[in-house]
Amino acid sequence: MDIERAVERIKATVGPNGWIADPDEQEPYLTEARRLYRGATRLVVRPASTAEVAAVVRICAEAVLPIVPQGGNTGLVGGGVPPEDGHNIVLALGRMNRIRAIDPVNFTMTVEAGCILAQLQQAASEVDRLFPLSLGAEGSCQIGGNLSTNAGGIAVLRYGNARELTLGLEVVLPDGQVWDALRGLRKDNTGYDLKQLFIGGEGTLGIITAATVKLFPKPCEVETALLGLARVEDVMELFARARAATADQLTAFELIPRAALDLALVHVPGTIDPLPARHPWYVLLELSSSQTESGIRGLLERLLETALDEELIANGVIAESGAQAKELWRIREAIVEAQNYSGSIKHDVSVPVSRVAEFIIRATAGVRQRLPAIRPMAFGHVGDGNIHFNLTQPERADTAAYLARWQEFNDIVHGVVRDLGGSISAEHGVGRMKCQEITHYKSPVEIELMRRVKCALDPANIMNPGKVVSPQEGSPDETGDGSRGWLD
Ligand code: FAD
Ligand code: ZN
Repeated sequence: MDIERAVERIKATVGPNGWIADPDEQEPYLTEARRLYRGATRLVVRPASTAEVAAVVRICAEAVLPIVPQGGNTGLVGGGVPPEDGHNIVLALGRMNRIRAIDPVNFTMTVEAGCILAQLQQAASEVDRLFPLSLGAEGSCQIGGNLSTNAGGIAVLRYGNARELTLGLEVVLPDGQVWDALRGLRKDNTGYDLKQLFIGGEGTLGIITAATVKLFPKPCEVETALLGLARVEDVMELFARARAATADQLTAFELIPRAALDLALVHVPGTIDPLPARHPWYVLLELSSSQTESGIRGLLERLLETALDEELIANGVIAESGAQAKELWRIREAIVEAQNYSGSIKHDVSVPVSRVAEFIIRATAGVRQRLPAIRPMAFGHVGDGNIHFNLTQPERADTAAYLARWQEFNDIVHGVVRDLGGSISAEHGVGRMKCQEITHYKSPVEIELMRRVKCALDPANIMNPGKVVSPQEGSPDETGDGSRGWLD
């Protein structure tokens, strides 16, 4: 089918409120949070129902017109941004934002892909349940995007990532068929678990239009502490003790280095220095319980007293109110924001939890050997083994010249990750940014299996081409452009 005709048919299918052709109105759909990639498109399509998505996909399949699914467009690897050639449609799910059902007895809710994450947290809370997925972009990212990237965030330690929170999916396949698997079952061993292909699939195998996700008992007691430590090895020793002593009540364990706090104190107004003295490392720790009079406050105090006596921690503060807890979490957000003010070479990596300290020590030594004045900012969700190992440029260095060395530092850091049995993308995905890079870190067998899955489900390669995996070995790869971002 002629492309012009396909575009006209798509417009007729979704109606006047379902498409955007005006270049100014298209703009927010063509670039992303880091302003690293900027693409072009024939049409931004905003369908209102699964039936409309299916009809649009059937037209694209017939015309062999590529589709770029897009949720809240907060992704950090360029996965939702269309390619520069403009030969595609952007399929934005934002109008599909209904909560179809909440079942407090089954502890599930069934929601459409375009629901904003924060709205789902709120909806769960209104029926006295918890939807635990939580991340910095929760005010604008969508559940369809969260599932497609298998998002992580701050509560993975206790509740798992998006994959572990999903029981069922509804997916529009690349040929336009609708696969309805919105099952709310915790047990279902009837063959391959196909939904796992689409979770973390980054829109390359189909379009998630709805999901049935797990809910949990809502915590009613939460304790938050910020602790200062001398050595990174002590951080992980503290983690092990806290986890063992509090079982499932440890819900967050975030690492903050002093260097990142110093940047935040300079750049982000309202940031507080939480403890009287300076410490090389800080841990933001949260315990929560859905029981009243759970005793978690006492548990936390005893844990910290012992850690102080044994000099595992140097000092610490326990929040006395919800407002103070928010202030402590604000520090965690501010350290990310502060890194936007200088050149920053990013790594989102994971290693086994037992090797986090070793990773930080080795990777820091490796990059300092190459550039002594580099400023490593190792922070993040270390309780689940995820380190955001960002490298801030030396003071007064030329930003462009520094960022031109992105690959050189990736190689050093990812080399340590490989040695320790880790992953070069812990939670942000592959997208465009790491499409080439993963081919160096996954085995040829694994890459070949990914290609076979891609070719089996999407033989015409119309679903988000150029992202995650190329269908053929050595096929021209538009992602190998070496461009990198400097915002987090
Ligand atoms: P988009 O960016 O729109 O899309 C992401 C990918 O999914 C693209 O490949 C797109 O094609 C595909 N996609 C989107 N919707 C669908 C669909 N319905 N069907 C099929 N494919 C689809 N991520 C974390 O994991 N943990 C964090 O802690 C975290 N913190 C962040 C903090 C900030 C300030 C920002 C800006 C980002 C953060 N992220 C984090 C990254 C980002 O928010 C997540 O990747 C999020 O899950 C993306 O959701 P989205 O709706 O914005 O998806
Ligand atoms: Zn993160």
